[in-house]
Amino acid sequence: MSERQKIGVLGATGSVGCNVLDLINSQPERFEIEYLTGGKNVDLLIHQARTYCPKYVVIQDESKFSILKDALSSLPIEIHAGDQAIADITTIKTDRVVASIVGVAGLRPILNAIPHTKIIAIANKEPLVAAGSLVMEKAAQHGTKILPVDSEHNAIFQVFEEHNRAYIKRIVLTASGGPFRTWSKEKIAAATIQDSLKHPNWTMGQKISVDSATLVNKSLELIEAHHLFSMSQDKIDIVIHPQSIIHSLVEYEDGSYLAQLGAADMRTPLAYALSWPHRMQTSGARLDLLSSPALTFEDVDHEKFPSVNLARKCLKAGQAACIAFNAANEVAVDAFLNERIGFRDILPIIEKALQNQNVMPLSDLESILEQDRSVRAAAQSYIV
Ligand code: NAD
Ligand code: MG
Repeated sequence: MSERQKIGVLGATGSVGCNVLDLINSQPERFEIEYLTGGKNVDLLIHQARTYCPKYVVIQDESKFSILKDALSSLPIEIHAGDQAIADITTIKTDRVVASIVGVAGLRPILNAIPHTKIIAIANKEPLVAAGSLVMEKAAQHGTKILPVDSEHNAIFQVFEEHNRAYIKRIVLTASGGPFRTWSKEKIAAATIQDSLKHPNWTMGQKISVDSATLVNKSLELIEAHHLFSMSQDKIDIVIHPQSIIHSLVEYEDGSYLAQLGAADMRTPLAYALSWPHRMQTSGARLDLLSSPALTFEDVDHEKFPSVNLARKCLKAGQAACIAFNAANEVAVDAFLNERIGFRDILPIIEKALQNQNVMPLSDLESILEQDRSVRAAAQSYIV
């Protein structure tokens, strides 16, 4: 590759964002950073801006604007702050954007980026859950490639033979089962924040860690897979694979399973999303076949983890239900992490939001965000 690729990173200060910058740092001849965005962690954003010297840096938290501006005043970097500024920055032309904001907050920036970039590497699953059709249709219209970063979807992408779509029997998403796989229902109900954040195999941001503990993460991933691969949900299965070595599989009609394997290190799927259609070297963890544990598989225990079946119902019910499932979960997880509710309250809040939502016509981004806001308000009202 002769010219350096211009990269935009949304959510640079997060767990995925830091892994992206680690990869970019290892191959400066290949990439240059056009813009970085962060939420509240101004110190890390300042450090990243000094290290990578992007053209633009945007912080979501407007109260941190002057700290950021002062710290970077000697560098040729344009600084902005606020939600609108994050949405606007994605209209800067790039070769690739990595979308790694957490939550539906990443939806508008992703949609705005589509006409101005060739490739979007999407880690940010919540926008696909709430507005997958809108994102995929807009990307198709503009010829922008959507590359999955989520390890399961990245694995499927690597082995999904589009030309043999008619012979794909099913997609199998693997799931570690989270920290409570072997816990009793009663013990799970009393789980603490610390317990929920102890993922057995992956180190990730707080929200996705709690989602992995409820298995809501796998439920969101089911909806994500439906949109990314245009597959009906009856062709998407979930299997618990506690070792997190096989990251997902595609089963073909001839009896073949194609799978992608690797260590549980996000730098592997991220490297693929940064270098596709080529590959790149990474310094990430490697899978050593000879010392790897035996690979085991189990069915999901739906009695202990009802969220997967709930997500299936939402997919059947339609987009409004998927928006509600995601929005209520975002509210409930935030409340749990702020010690306002217990772990046992997360699923009931989602269920209640699904029962009580007022469905508005969903024609465009604004109506989707309005629906999202209305579910959030309702979900907040269930938290006393
Ligand atoms: P994180 O919490 O570590 O980082 C989130 C990033 O988004 C941070 O930069 C934060 O400052 C920013 N942010 C938060 N709220 C924002 C807002 N309202 N507006 C703008 N920016 C905001 O999360 P993460 O673990 O890196 O996950 C990011 C996304 O990637 C999530 O959607 C998650 O489900 C998905 N994902 C993460 C992993 C992982 O290994 N961490 C794996 C697969 C998928
Ligand atoms: Mg995943």
